[in-house]
Amino acid sequence: MKKITKIKEMKDVVRNLKSQGKIIGFVPTMGYLHEGHLSLVRSSVQKADTTVVSIFVNPTQFGPKEDFKEYPRDIKRDSACLEREGVDYLFFPDTEEMYPYGFKTYVEVQDMQTKLCGRSRPEHFRGVCTVVLKLFNIVNPDLAFFGQKDAQQAIILKNMVRDLYLDVKIEVLPIVREKDGLALSSRNEYLDKRERQTALVLYRSLQKAKKMIMEGERKAAQIIEKMKEPIGKEPLAEIDYVDIVDLDELSSVEAIGQEALIALAVCVGKTRLIDNMIVEIDEKGVKFKE
Ligand code: AMP
Repeated sequence: MKKITKIKEMKDVVRNLKSQGKIIGFVPTMGYLHEGHLSLVRSSVQKADTTVVSIFVNPTQFGPKEDFKEYPRDIKRDSACLEREGVDYLFFPDTEEMYPYGFKTYVEVQDMQTKLCGRSRPEHFRGVCTVVLKLFNIVNPDLAFFGQKDAQQAIILKNMVRDLYLDVKIEVLPIVREKDGLALSSRNEYLDKRERQTALVLYRSLQKAKKMIMEGERKAAQIIEKMKEPIGKEPLAEIDYVDIVDLDELSSVEAIGQEALIALAVCVGKTRLIDNMIVEIDEKGVKFKE
């Protein structure tokens, strides 16, 4: 695996690969890799001729009071992981390389960026779209891999790709969880023992929704109320939001129709955790992607 830190070098490599007709798979990450990231990497290694993984903790997607400085980093361990998975290139630029002095351009996917996580993180998706478009312009991938763990992010990025006619196919892969249901996240690192136990309430809350839907409930308000109950009982947990939205606009729905995203964000101590589940209903029955 070759490690590249400069945009020019990355672009030169990509131009050469493209001239040989190689299909490029790309996995953008902020590092501190876990099995969730690695599931995306494995998919890329399997489907593409060449896999590029980026590690960049993107300052523009963090709010002023958020954890940009504390965000866990371990490039040595990450490099070794990616090497083992058969990744071809690790793109690891520094902040000045990605945001040189005087940069002025941002990308926004309007409306969707203010829903769900956008309510408490107003600048977040603007930062995500901006850095992902920059990375797409550098890596020029044919396929890009994202996790359903960040469902809103994946939906917003698909809209950006469509609206800006980008020649990249976005693939969204399932949430990888611990045995007890906790969705893997680099931020789980922040949790102490009691908080780790409390964090399970996100999955429990989703399971409550699942049970109600299986039993025939479709009204969003009823489901959301029941989802909030176990979280309210946890002294270390504070709800940011619990919502049920459509997949096109991310607008809250009154009742679950053919498709819905059930998403929640909960602060456990100082750590903000997110989780979600997609429900699909057709004549054959109800399906859950969780
Ligand atoms: P991050 O490093 O947090 O920016 O995440 C990089 C990519 O990994 C994003 O597309 C995430 O959605 C994905 N990801 C993070 N956690 C998981 C998980 N538990 N399962 C699947 N994908 C994940």
